[in-house]
Amino acid sequence: MSELSITGIDIFQAKIPMVAPFRIALGVTDKAEYLFVRINTDGGVSGWGETTPFSFITGDTQAINAAAAEDLAKLILGKDPLDIEGRVTEMGRFLAFNSSVRSAFDMALYDIAARKAGLPLYAFLGGGKRQLETDMTIGIDEPAAMAEKAIKLVKTGVPAVKVKLGTTAGEDIFRIKSIREAIGDELPLRIDANQGWDFPTAVAVLRAIEGDGIEYCEQPVAKWDYESFRRLREHVSIPIMADESVFDHHDAFKLMAGGCCDYLNIKLAKSGGIHTALKINAVGEASGVKCMLGCMLETRLGLTAAAHLASAKPNIRYVDLDGHFMLKKDPIVGGASWDGGTITLPDDPGIGAEVDPAFLEGCECVTIA
Ligand code: MG
Repeated sequence: MSELSITGIDIFQAKIPMVAPFRIALGVTDKAEYLFVRINTDGGVSGWGETTPFSFITGDTQAINAAAAEDLAKLILGKDPLDIEGRVTEMGRFLAFNSSVRSAFDMALYDIAARKAGLPLYAFLGGGKRQLETDMTIGIDEPAAMAEKAIKLVKTGVPAVKVKLGTTAGEDIFRIKSIREAIGDELPLRIDANQGWDFPTAVAVLRAIEGDGIEYCEQPVAKWDYESFRRLREHVSIPIMADESVFDHHDAFKLMAGGCCDYLNIKLAKSGGIHTALKINAVGEASGVKCMLGCMLETRLGLTAAAHLASAKPNIRYVDLDGHFMLKKDPIVGGASWDGGTITLPDDPGIGAEVDPAFLEGCECVTIA
């Protein structure tokens, strides 16, 4: 037992207006809701975490997370925050699924441990500070509107443009042809069907756009459809990335054992935080498969935590950390900064980001102590 114990947990409910509704194959998101979790210790060190429920994928909402967060807080109160293995294991045993709310607690525990060690989180995770380059994402829209957005994004200097697809084969092919025609051949496109296709549709679309500079395709088919994932790799040349199909290291192992995909997309909201994210990356690495670090609609708090992880682990080749560009407000002080697609991490101990106290004044707060 370390000398630290958890003395209280503050759970803040927050809502941030979005720049515009965001459409993917699974549905339209028009509100960005969060819990900010602050775990306090008797050593004067506190840690911050964030949960970003994305109901289509993580199966939860802010209200579900708020109820669960109180129970998780009671579960870890009085215990050792530096025993991350112990805390994450007991939270996972107590609360199956609900990965997004567990990720907020996991994140705050890592923040405490890294602060206590006096190290930025990437160094606490045993890694270095790398230059990270994120793509930026275009939601589903009319092809002409998507092409117009792509032109604007290219001007910001991003390394790639990510395009949401997953309606019909005809529409999706036309979207990619329109965008490619608008931006020229230079930048790669990354596409994400968010489970919108069945096997024949996926084959039809991917074959039709094979010559259009597609770096990879995320989640072409349903999350349970590992067999179509596997067969797709025999039928198309565009590399396939699993996203909704991989929440934890067990999923990653099954995908690898089945030869189902070329890449894995890790998100803290799916993995329940950094602890399991590290395991997913290790399974990928053991299989010779690179990972991406992706996001939901996190603020710069959650995105900075994810960026630390990506920085620490070079097997995480791709970065898709652009959620905060969809928000009208930035409630975070400190944290990573974005210049076009280039992400620069802070060097302060821990995650190096906190929620602005002025913003928190307007948030409903429950304290478990
Ligand atoms: Mg995705």
